[in-house]
Amino acid sequence: MSILLDQLKASLDASSLILDDDISDKYFVDWSGSKPCQPAALLKPKTTEELSAIMALCHEHDQPVVVQGGLTGLSGGATPQSGEFAISLERMNAIEEIDATAMTLTAHAGTPLQLLQEVAAEHDLFLPLDLGARGSCMIGGNVATNAGGTEVIRYGMTRSMVLGLEAVLADGTVINAMNKMVKNNSGYDLKHLFIGSEGTLGIVTRVVLQLQPQSLNTHTALCALNSYEAVTQLLNILKRSLGSGLTGFELMWDNYYEKVIETVPNLNSPFEESHPFYLLIEYKDNDKIAGDQRFESALFAQFEAGLLTDVLIAQSLQDAATFWQIRDGVGELLQVLKSVSNQDVSLPVTDIGIFAEDLEKRLNDKYDNVGVLLFGHIGDNNLHVCAYTGREEDKAEINEDIMLMIGEYSGAITAEHGIGVLKRDFLSLSRTDNEIALMKTIKLAMDPKNILNPGRVI
Ligand SMILES: Cc1cc2nc3c(=O)[nH]c(=O)nc-3n(C[C@H](O)[C@H](O)[C@H](O)COP(=O)(O)OP(=O)(O)OC[C@H]3O[C@@H](n4cnc5c(N)ncnc54)[C@H](O)[C@@H]3O)c2cc1C
Repeated sequence: MSILLDQLKASLDASSLILDDDISDKYFVDWSGSKPCQPAALLKPKTTEELSAIMALCHEHDQPVVVQGGLTGLSGGATPQSGEFAISLERMNAIEEIDATAMTLTAHAGTPLQLLQEVAAEHDLFLPLDLGARGSCMIGGNVATNAGGTEVIRYGMTRSMVLGLEAVLADGTVINAMNKMVKNNSGYDLKHLFIGSEGTLGIVTRVVLQLQPQSLNTHTALCALNSYEAVTQLLNILKRSLGSGLTGFELMWDNYYEKVIETVPNLNSPFEESHPFYLLIEYKDNDKIAGDQRFESALFAQFEAGLLTDVLIAQSLQDAATFWQIRDGVGELLQVLKSVSNQDVSLPVTDIGIFAEDLEKRLNDKYDNVGVLLFGHIGDNNLHVCAYTGREEDKAEINEDIMLMIGEYSGAITAEHGIGVLKRDFLSLSRTDNEIALMKTIKLAMDPKNILNPGRVI
């Protein structure tokens, strides 16, 4: 390793290579908190060329590396493993171009998501990707994890807004696929190899994103329902009546709703009574008066039909913010609860209600005093499960119980957060042997020495 370090020192700017005690512990672990480990060296390239030179040398010396963006990942993928060099993209932070006519934005991989959102908004445009970690996560990390978020029901996941990208391969080869066109069927669409592959096939360095026009008005409602079947019926009805303006469909089971209200300071339920299900609905359009009417009449028709048992329509931005605080209160809840198995899974939408009941029953039968909190982006089949007994020794077993049940129900063991290290051993519950074999073939072809994020995903 010392020859490699000497070569890196000789070829890099001093600020690009950090060693020993000069490496801050923020690079030891991602948000998953899994087994922090000091990287053997920290590299902070400023350009694609510099990164390419680093990878060429690491490849020559069989040196494994871990790629780091904003380190907000929840599956341990960016946490260094023993002996790995960490490559942080944080200095590759720049907006290269905003093309208001084509509605595209070109940025470097280390640019924080929130900055991209703000720059798009300054041009009266909208980047339809938003997540709680917006201030810290970086667009390269979002692309590498194919991040989801709150508006997937309308705009899809990150994959659907990436028009093109540039990536550095394990041996330093630069793949320039900075396509700016919606239609381009000229051979394999290679960008998809890098989107969602969690840094195992290449390091994303630049991205071209498709922006959208800003919507002028946002309408928000918090509704109460009696059954999961009513939720899925409502989803179909609103998809028809509100069309593509339906941007949020966030379901909270009573177990989550009551716990968040009870735990988070200054949070009160706006309903007088308790209900089995609470649904946050968001609708966006460009015509305030017609939009108000459309939204209200769509919801009141379902109230009159008995599908909704109560409806509260936000009358102000403050009302809307209060509704969202209930949904987003999970962040504060997780800081208070101990030893929580925090899973994000996907299931066919019609199965989620039965799965949820079955899961609660099985965990209650198996563990004393288990808490189960359920909520999710149901419009995208995405269920978040938090389960806990407060005993650290139960957490791994609860994780496994949930993963095995997802396998039984033919769901996806991760909807958004990725496989990383933490879910790698469960991959076969969601993918067939032939799919995993093909993934390994692709990995071997692109990284024959297995130096790029080794041990993540597969
Ligand atoms: C409060 C909070 C809320 C969240 N909400 C959501 C949500 O709603 N939806 C969602 O999908 N996720 C969510 N996440 C998870 C996380 O924010 C996303 O996975 C995000 O996309 C990770 O970006 P990052 O820059 O922090 O990547 P990191 O955590 O640094 O890395 C994640 C993975 O990508 C790889 N990687 C990072 N950058 C690159 C690159 N340039 N090229 C190749 N590989 C790279 C890493 O090696 C690692 O495997 C949330 C996390 C937190 C803490």
